[in-house]
Amino acid sequence: MLEVRDIRTFYGAIQALKGVSIWVTEGEIVALIGANGAGKSTLLMTICGVVPPRSGEILFMGNPIQNLSPDRIFSLGIVQVPEGRRIFPLLTVQENLDMGAYLRNDKGAVRSDMEYVFSIFPRLAERRRQLGGTLSGGEQQMLALSRGLMARPRMLLLDEPSLGLAPVLVATIFDTIRHINRDNSTTLLLVEQKAAMALHIAGRGYVLENGTIKLQDIADQLLCNKEVKSAYLGGS
Ligand code: ATP
Repeated sequence: MLEVRDIRTFYGAIQALKGVSIWVTEGEIVALIGANGAGKSTLLMTICGVVPPRSGEILFMGNPIQNLSPDRIFSLGIVQVPEGRRIFPLLTVQENLDMGAYLRNDKGAVRSDMEYVFSIFPRLAERRRQLGGTLSGGEQQMLALSRGLMARPRMLLLDEPSLGLAPVLVATIFDTIRHINRDNSTTLLLVEQKAAMALHIAGRGYVLENGTIKLQDIADQLLCNKEVKSAYLGGS
């Protein structure tokens, strides 16, 4: 479904990705783990067109997308839920969700998708008329993920969905990600600091270090890899 080939991405003179290649098959959950500053967010932003690569190729469903605008890439079905809680603070929960679906014309399906996100996050249903900016941090995180789902993505790029959440909510978020993958057959590329939890729900994983892919394997193998264990699994 997605093939990233030898991508080099820069911020001015700083090279954040130094020849990264990954692939994601339709229906998979793929985890991307690595230390702070390894380039994980940059890789997601490069895929969705926000920080275009200086060289390399990105194929989605067999077609090159590395020169397309973020809007165009979004309309192809690649939707990013960015790190942090970039929701619209002055719009209500419901309006935030409507924004996620703004490119869709299938009103009936939009309504049933909204019911679906309200069923997985009842807290958002209770607060559907509340302004996004007045939600708690965890609720904003749920809203960001739900808004991404409202686009009916073919591929969802999740950047640290568990960031700043209380432990009980972290478990809910990981369960939800698993559901999204199974129920909606949405393909997921998941960046997470909680590497063990991410690898437990993923089929495969990549370890990014200093802008390059250091390791790639099926998730179960990464979970018992000595290097991965000592470097990334200690705290999760
Ligand atoms: P974290 O887990 O801390 O979020 P990350 O693996 O997602 O880290 P990136 O945010 O992709 O890492 O950063 C990769 C490198 O690119 C870092 O050295 C970072 O300082 C640099 N970088 C990221 N964004 C910018 C920017 N807007 N301008 C300049 N350098 C940047």
